[in-house]
Amino acid sequence: MKFWFGVCVIAFAVVFTSVSYALPNSASPHREAERGIVILQYHHVGDDTPRVTSVTAAELEAHFALLKELDFTVLSLTEAKQRLAAGTLPKRAAAITFDDGWANVFVNGREVFERYRYPFTIFVNPKLMAENPRQYMSWEQLKILTEYGAEIANHTNEHHHMTWREPGVTERAWLARELADVRAAQAQIEQHFDQPQPMLAYPYGEFSFELAEALRQIGYLAFGQHSGAWGRLSHPAAIPRFPASGRYAALDTLRTKILSLPMPVVEHHPQDMVLEHDTEQLTISIELAPHQDLHRHQVQCFYGADVIQPSDDGSALTFTLPKQPPIGRSRVNCTAPSISESGRFYWYSVPLVRPDENGRWPD
Ligand SMILES: [Zn+2]
Repeated sequence: MKFWFGVCVIAFAVVFTSVSYALPNSASPHREAERGIVILQYHHVGDDTPRVTSVTAAELEAHFALLKELDFTVLSLTEAKQRLAAGTLPKRAAAITFDDGWANVFVNGREVFERYRYPFTIFVNPKLMAENPRQYMSWEQLKILTEYGAEIANHTNEHHHMTWREPGVTERAWLARELADVRAAQAQIEQHFDQPQPMLAYPYGEFSFELAEALRQIGYLAFGQHSGAWGRLSHPAAIPRFPASGRYAALDTLRTKILSLPMPVVEHHPQDMVLEHDTEQLTISIELAPHQDLHRHQVQCFYGADVIQPSDDGSALTFTLPKQPPIGRSRVNCTAPSISESGRFYWYSVPLVRPDENGRWPD
């Protein structure tokens, strides 16, 4: 993926000591972990909803308590963006998001929101809210949650697979339709709430490079469901989040993710997450910016149960997936330990989706 913030090359602050009054350790580079924002992504709050997209109220509370225990500052996405750009992020920063605006988030989450008063973002589908008022929060309920710190943002009007293009529809017509849907949802949200920073969560975390680029150009921040921390090199319309529901709700694995750092990736290939149906062997390359806090040779990638050691030609890390990607969504996670902060890992995820023979895949 191409990044427009430019490649920021970090100088190695190597101080050579020839004088006797040099500070201790001045012969070694000054290392500091890269700062970023870890975003948690939720859907339902409840115990009678699909487990894969649910946390119970008790689990949500345990996650919020863990953020406190780990001394994280929880920021709204708007403030996170500003502080990332200004270079004023705290050492440990997190954000909290809910997709879809389910009514159970209001019913079951409200007490937890009231107790912690963390800022959070709810991404809503205005058309679905109007069609299924019992399933989704109303504008009035959303308003009440803004008193506890919620920002209300865009999840498209009707929650479809944004990259699906009907036969005969040109790429240009497809893109115009998608942007029109985003704008229609945004207009409804802005009738109810001030939203100076437009923000979109892609339904199912699915997007294409072209779509991300178009949204960036009209000033959106857009969020996926590929994991990793949001850093200064992240594309502003391809921001990662950690799913924290279902099997990802367990505290031991969530702790590692909350403590993760943004791997300084300049771009990866292939740029688009949607592969050709007949993709058999997929080779992925990741271009890393120089960084004093990680060793390139310690980058390891994970695809399902497979552990992959990338090869390094000095500019890019390259690896071939050991098996054909399945139909539907999958992702490759790459990590490397921080040198300066033990127990913290740089993390980067490459989202993939392989269509079936009709160009479709399951929700
Ligand atoms: Zn959704």
